[in-house]
Amino acid sequence: MRELGRRRIGARDGPGGRKKGLQTILTAEVAAEIEELIGPEASGALDFEALETALRQQALELAARAVERWLNADTSDGAHPTLPCPCGEQARYAGRRPKWLQCVLGTLRFERAYYHCARCQTGFCPRDRELGLEAGSLSPAVRRMVGTVGALVSFQEGSELLDELAGVALDAKQVERTAERLGREIAQAEQQNVTAEPPPAPTMYLGLDGTGVPMRASELAGRQGKQPDGSAKTREVKLVTVWTAELRDDNGAPVRDPGSVSYSAAIESAATHDTDQQLAPFAQRVEREARRRGFDHARRRVVLGDGAPWIWNLVDELFPGAIQIVDLYHAKGRLWDVAKAIYGAGTDLAEQWAKQRRDELDTGEIDALLKALQLHAPSNEEARKCLDYVTRNRQRMRYPELRAQGLCIASGVVEAGCKVAIGTRLKRAGMHWTVAGANAIIALRCSRLSGRFDDFWQRPPTTQNSTATPSR
Ligand SMILES: [Zn+2]
Repeated sequence: MRELGRRRIGARDGPGGRKKGLQTILTAEVAAEIEELIGPEASGALDFEALETALRQQALELAARAVERWLNADTSDGAHPTLPCPCGEQARYAGRRPKWLQCVLGTLRFERAYYHCARCQTGFCPRDRELGLEAGSLSPAVRRMVGTVGALVSFQEGSELLDELAGVALDAKQVERTAERLGREIAQAEQQNVTAEPPPAPTMYLGLDGTGVPMRASELAGRQGKQPDGSAKTREVKLVTVWTAELRDDNGAPVRDPGSVSYSAAIESAATHDTDQQLAPFAQRVEREARRRGFDHARRRVVLGDGAPWIWNLVDELFPGAIQIVDLYHAKGRLWDVAKAIYGAGTDLAEQWAKQRRDELDTGEIDALLKALQLHAPSNEEARKCLDYVTRNRQRMRYPELRAQGLCIASGVVEAGCKVAIGTRLKRAGMHWTVAGANAIIALRCSRLSGRFDDFWQRPPTTQNSTATPSR
């Protein structure tokens, strides 16, 4: 805990920096009280910002001492001469031990009873367990703050924000370790807590997508990738998104209901083999999310994805009978790539060709679209791949019919989901992840974006703050 912000008392030089003595803005009585708190020479030339900053600092300091007294006054945690050790032996009371604790009010000196086991030569403090402090020396509220910044910005930026906004001094490495530990706990809670909800709307949408995240070299050894030499630079994060779209725009087209989107994602396998005893980890994730949101009980279940075969294999397995749609954005993007490959990026011919093909998609003239692709397929690899893609997915591209049924065909939710949930946090310049680190931060971020972060904190500390969490 440091002095809040970077402002020093009396140093006001920016715009609006009127210097005023305390006496001119406060009653004499209040001014005297403040002077007592922050010293007469400091209070002489205070501006508003320096005043609020200095007083906040003082208020925190007073509160910190009060909490410290409260924590240390209760010595009942040492009432028993012995307590059972997890090994089965009895651990003996061995006095009170101090611990420096970082909380949102500042640093506290906290003394608690320590029990030592002669057989395992280790010890424990019951109160640490009770207060959720086994994992380290950060209070629950500080850990929560770290979770917030760790989900949103880089660890370095998080460290700076914590200092500037909250006066909590943690370096980037501490932010990283704490945020990742929290993310692992959240990931574990996500797997364990699946409360099935009834569907909030008659039609529910589920989107599936994948996006590459840059990895450390050590995490990629032996993996095949798209680099010219066959190596990989990324691993694929797979994302499931669930939402509703009962709202209608001026043209009567469905619009995603605000606040209805939830996300769950990880770097994990989606392929379940015939010999496997259970579903692949990502398939299990999709099933959990569908159950949690009531997707599996909706009257109309709609799945949107790009054309990737793993997506439709998984959907056939988990949600037989669901309406399958290739996200129109993805489909149009593919056609645009073909146009560039045939005629060159930025040319009029490419523009014209892509427009014709996209109109064919919109109006359902799939035969005409296939014919146009067939023309270029023998001489152009992109056209050949796209021909294959449209042929395989044509049943999922009946856009006029799907639109007539009032369905979202290009919600943008799936596309945006990858950017919002993954890209903006994990794909920034210079970032290289481990699988464990990426999955922890993805879990943290999805939890926040899905409005579940608060639920996680409301669980009792024993389940929320367990140190025995194995990392995957
Ligand atoms: Zn023991």
